[in-house]
Amino acid sequence: MSDKIDVNGNCHCGNIYIQAKVRKSEVRACHCTDCQKMSGAPVRAVAIAPAEEIKITGKPREYIKKADSGNKRIQAFCPDCGTQLFATDMERKLFNLRTGFLEQRNELKPETHVFTSSGLNWMLELIK
Ligand SMILES: [Zn+2]
Repeated sequence: MSDKIDVNGNCHCGNIYIQAKVRKSEVRACHCTDCQKMSGAPVRAVAIAPAEEIKITGKPREYIKKADSGNKRIQAFCPDCGTQLFATDMERKLFNLRTGFLEQRNELKPETHVFTSSGLNWMLELIK
């Protein structure tokens, strides 16, 4: 049985629109400190789509985040309203869509939680 669903959403100002196919079973919430800082939220949830299953209308701005390990990740957001859209690898093979701007976000419940070692105590209580 496939748990693939079609998702779509636009940024707050409407300049960027994204459609994709994601698997509900692959939705995850990241508690790392980079996600906390960049999202302005205690946790950041993502749904994953391969490059061939994502369509981007509009021109996101990109910031390349360098990890302590030297690993680089593209972080894309709307240059006008700042809505966070996705992260991807430097080869643009796999896209981690931020679920917050997707219309189907209520269906995209994270199945896994990663980097909980840097999770906030009160948030970890909520997901117990
Ligand atoms: Zn925008």
